[in-house]
Amino acid sequence: MQTIWKQITQEDNLNIAIYEEAGAILRKGGLVAFPTETVYGLGGNGFDAGASAKIYAAKGRPSDNPLILHISDIDMLSMITDEITDKARVLMDRFWPGPLTMIFNKKKEVPYETTGGLETVAVRMPDHEVARKLIEAAGTPIAAPSANVSGRPSPTMARHVYEDLSGKIDMILDGGDVGIGLESTIIDMTAEPPMILRPGYITKEMFEKEIGRVITDPAILKKPDEAMKPKAPGMKYRHYAPKAVLTLVESKACEDAKTDKVVSKIVDMATDKITSGAKVGIIATIETVETYTNLLNNRNVIIKMSDEEDSVVTAGEAMMFVIGSREDEESVARNLYKVLRQCDEKNMEYVYSETFSRDNFGEAIMNRLQKAAGYTIVEAD
Ligand code: AMP
Ligand code: MG
Repeated sequence: MQTIWKQITQEDNLNIAIYEEAGAILRKGGLVAFPTETVYGLGGNGFDAGASAKIYAAKGRPSDNPLILHISDIDMLSMITDEITDKARVLMDRFWPGPLTMIFNKKKEVPYETTGGLETVAVRMPDHEVARKLIEAAGTPIAAPSANVSGRPSPTMARHVYEDLSGKIDMILDGGDVGIGLESTIIDMTAEPPMILRPGYITKEMFEKEIGRVITDPAILKKPDEAMKPKAPGMKYRHYAPKAVLTLVESKACEDAKTDKVVSKIVDMATDKITSGAKVGIIATIETVETYTNLLNNRNVIIKMSDEEDSVVTAGEAMMFVIGSREDEESVARNLYKVLRQCDEKNMEYVYSETFSRDNFGEAIMNRLQKAAGYTIVEAD
């Protein structure tokens, strides 16, 4: 299959034809990838069991891992559920459109192929013009998981979608880079108190300000074992993984000493691997990149920068990936998946990363980093 690539531009009159074409593809059961404010989604008609099956096939995703239904207005919600609690209404008013997915009991019309066999259904109203116009053009809720091959980092640019799914889907709408960069927060509104199943930009603190007590599924923080049957079925799968062996380094030292300890531990571990001839990546921040460079220079290590055009690392060299600023966790979130993908593009064999505060939005960042690292965290102290 030839995948059609369409660039969404500022020229609204040019876009109309694109949305019409994309909407027609969706109505006929085809697949269209599109930007949202979180990550790129792979959309299919959520009420068409065949379209859902195509989504699973294109992604190589296990079919018990349910999809999220995306809506463009509140009226569409009545097609999906008729059990909306007062608390859910409060959250909808406050956070929709936005990076929030809520779980409801489903109406019988929602196919089990979309919900992974569950009686419940996940719903989100994305805050992105391209997503909204696409859903409007299709005239039906759109089932959309992230538009990556299962197990790879979620796409934050149209190019990432192309790399993973070109030839397997009908169309890609290129609406530029996403704003948030991590998947939506998921909260189960069928539970009392409501339960957070996946951390994201909307945090526990933000929920509690609106509706009182909510709890976090303990499975979020732990390494899932094979036997576990978690509430959010997707949680049991290894996600977001680069091909390299990724190790996180953290420190329990006081705030002032922490970062230095982490940096010198990473330099030690990286040097060991470099000496044995491996290609080693370091995920650094604006605040720390210079210290790494100086320390590694002192050890005569050759260092390349990932963002320098055509930079390649050969055996026994290091590459620095700057993920963002420690002072600005949103920059770290926005670049996280891009950096994990770059680690693959640059053929890294071992990658070391700093860790970040787990407060507020940091919980989502660390949740994704831990999964990418297969829960390998080393103490620097
Ligand atoms: P993705 O679209 O790749 O971000 O994945 C969607 C995720 O939403 C799944 O992996 C599940 O964790 C979660 N999800 C979707 N539907 C439900 C549901 N009915 N109950 C619990 N979790 C769900
Ligand atoms: Mg996903």
